[in-house]
Amino acid sequence: MITVNGLTKRYAHTTAVDQISFEVQRGQIVGFLGPNGAGKTTTMRMLTCFLTPTSGTATVAGFDILEQPLEVKKRIGYLPETPPVYPEMRIAEYLTFVGQLKGLSGSDLRTRVDYACERCAVADVRNKIIGKLSKGYRQRVGLAQAIIHNPDVLILDEPTAGLDPKQINETRDLIKSLAGDHTIILSTHILPEVSQTCEKVIIINKGKIVATDSVSNLQQRASSGESVLVEVAGRNGSLDPAAVQRKLEQIAGVSRVIAKADGQKRVIFEVEAAKDRGVRGDVARAVVESGWDLNELRPAAMSLEEIFLQLTGSEAPAELEVVAAGGAKQ
Ligand code: ADP
Repeated sequence: MITVNGLTKRYAHTTAVDQISFEVQRGQIVGFLGPNGAGKTTTMRMLTCFLTPTSGTATVAGFDILEQPLEVKKRIGYLPETPPVYPEMRIAEYLTFVGQLKGLSGSDLRTRVDYACERCAVADVRNKIIGKLSKGYRQRVGLAQAIIHNPDVLILDEPTAGLDPKQINETRDLIKSLAGDHTIILSTHILPEVSQTCEKVIIINKGKIVATDSVSNLQQRASSGESVLVEVAGRNGSLDPAAVQRKLEQIAGVSRVIAKADGQKRVIFEVEAAKDRGVRGDVARAVVESGWDLNELRPAAMSLEEIFLQLTGSEAPAELEVVAAGGAKQ
């Protein structure tokens, strides 16, 4: 549905977007994740034909952004970071106005306004003045204007920025529910956003793509070997945490043991194994044979946050370059 090929935008002193390439399949919901200044908005503005690339190009639903911008615009609904709403207008009136700008008229226009109001949960307030709405409701109106012409693709720039936690959840649910009908790219600098909303993540930093993968694959590939969390308790109520740590460190194949919670009666350690080593069985045996209780033993997935830091930090470990190569190596 979207193919981006070597897209680049240079300003006088900055290369905001540097030869990025990626693909988004129909119906997918993709998170465009990166710190502030990474180049997310610039990319979105190029895809929506508001900004001309310095080089490279992209196609949306088969139409080239440079050669067929009008066709591209017909197929894209765009929600910029600040919703393009007119505060003095009523919701339905505003959506009718936007629909007309998109070429809708007559009963088609009325049907689409009704549909967008229903879909974005603003039907019961459709005659309210936009300026009097909460920020969460205003964002729903922003989404309603993006879907008014039933575009194939939705491009949403930081759609939950500035909302309170309840509004964030509602907006995320709404975006997820729109994914069936539209292909969606949303940008964010907030990590949980992608793990909770998106199937695929494209991580961008300083204008370059550093990883492209599914959220679950990224987590899996980023961890160097098996990593487990183990909770150990003393049988007679007391325990020497240092002794437990030493025992775990002595297990063959264990590369690192990190204390996660320390206590007189129970301790939690994260045990990292060397690449391609499984250590769960050995950890369980070592604990039990030492006379301690094994309260819990479970895989410790690397958090998206840790992956993100690794990928956007000064030095990405070698195994993460494999992730970039699998996605969109530049
Ligand atoms: P993001 O959306 O990820 O926060 P942006 O795409 O807004 O990042 O910006 C990427 C980089 O391009 C930043 O360094 C920003 O300062 C620079 N930039 C954006 N717009 C302009 C502009 N109109 N003129 C010069 N530099 C710009």
